[in-house]
Amino acid sequence: MALKDFVAMQERCSNCSFCKWIPFDKIKSNRFSENCPAGVWANWNTYFARGRFQMGLALVNGEFDYNSERADIARSCLDCGACDVSCKVCRYNLEPLAHNRELKHDAVEHGNVLAVQKKMLDSYAKEHTLLAGKKKEDRAKWAEKIAWAKDAEVFFFPGCKYSYDRKLAAKAKDIAEILLSAGVKLGYLGKDDACCGGRAYQMGFFDEFAKGADANIKAFKKHGVKTIVTPCSDCYHALKRLYAERGLDVEVLHVVEYLDRLIQDGTIKFTRTVNRTVTYHDPCHLGRQGEPYEAWNGTEKKILNQIHTWEPRRPRYNGRLGIYEEPRNIIKAIPGVRLVEMERIKEYAWCCGAGGGMQAVNPELSKWTASERITEANATGADTLVTACPWCESNFAGAVDENGRTINVMDIIDLVKEAL
Ligand code: SF4
Ligand code: SF4
Repeated sequence: MALKDFVAMQERCSNCSFCKWIPFDKIKSNRFSENCPAGVWANWNTYFARGRFQMGLALVNGEFDYNSERADIARSCLDCGACDVSCKVCRYNLEPLAHNRELKHDAVEHGNVLAVQKKMLDSYAKEHTLLAGKKKEDRAKWAEKIAWAKDAEVFFFPGCKYSYDRKLAAKAKDIAEILLSAGVKLGYLGKDDACCGGRAYQMGFFDEFAKGADANIKAFKKHGVKTIVTPCSDCYHALKRLYAERGLDVEVLHVVEYLDRLIQDGTIKFTRTVNRTVTYHDPCHLGRQGEPYEAWNGTEKKILNQIHTWEPRRPRYNGRLGIYEEPRNIIKAIPGVRLVEMERIKEYAWCCGAGGGMQAVNPELSKWTASERITEANATGADTLVTACPWCESNFAGAVDENGRTINVMDIIDLVKEAL
């Protein structure tokens, strides 16, 4: 698709501004009622989904072209999808997130690429990771001493963060060992393991993503992969949704789904009490964007030349079917742990600030978004903020709330490990 293919949608946006807040019936306080980090940070309509539709239409109609400010607006969307969920409360099948992504793609196609993005993409092409400066030959080092199953059908897909970061790599090892000792016949792709490319897609580099994704799909076929398990929410979304669109037909699970199964059936038993009051952050790409892909091949029609409809009915991704209960089940199953919820949770969760490659693209926006979430987490009285994504964890680490206070940040795997 191209930006011009979104004209009907751009024109159909009613400027109602629902996309600026979590759905009104979910609002618990004015302080935590907003949902779009980009728009709130910039305090400017064009940064919200509504303004992006207007900007996209103006670009298609040739009313203006990109300048550095407009390119910045296009790329300063965190791909969190909160606008998409809120828009669908009042508008059936308007797709603000797909449009935000296409706007980024269009900006890229018109040559608006930052030096930092170029470095990431060069690394992706050469070293098969979007983490610039990392080498392909070092990717599998963390996994060398693990006794992977020989006849595996379940494959561990750690993602770049867990593969290269020394601290996180230790965590990847922990997860793999927990699953192996629970009897899971777990394998690893070894030298065929590579970046999922999700970040490239989220930044608008669709062609580069497609190339990397197709190479990975080929590798999965070569290894006879039936199930993939990943601890990274970004990888999860890429594999479950974006790869499925490209024909990948395997079961994709996040580690929390697998662990929840093993805890529920009694295979994993907790032996230690953990005295913590925790609040759980739903990663955007595991929560509202973690819904299963539904193939759709229909067409758009108009009833009485007025009302837009789709035949057959289109899938409606509104976040309802994301992964929410599994991490909460795990937390609640740990002896001693008390779970207290933030105001914006599940499909209405506020982003961590790392989505859409924002740590590199707009670090100020990325940090401010994290700080907002820390403020919300601290308002619960929790002593620990738990998440299930290395990007969220890294963006929260060291971030402080509006009063300069921090909070202990933990991956759910570390919490599980404390209780085993
Ligand atoms: S909620 Fe949807 S229809 Fe309303 S202004 Fe936002 S994008 Fe437009
Ligand atoms: S995806 Fe998130 S950051 Fe981007 S416009 Fe929507 S709510 Fe704002």
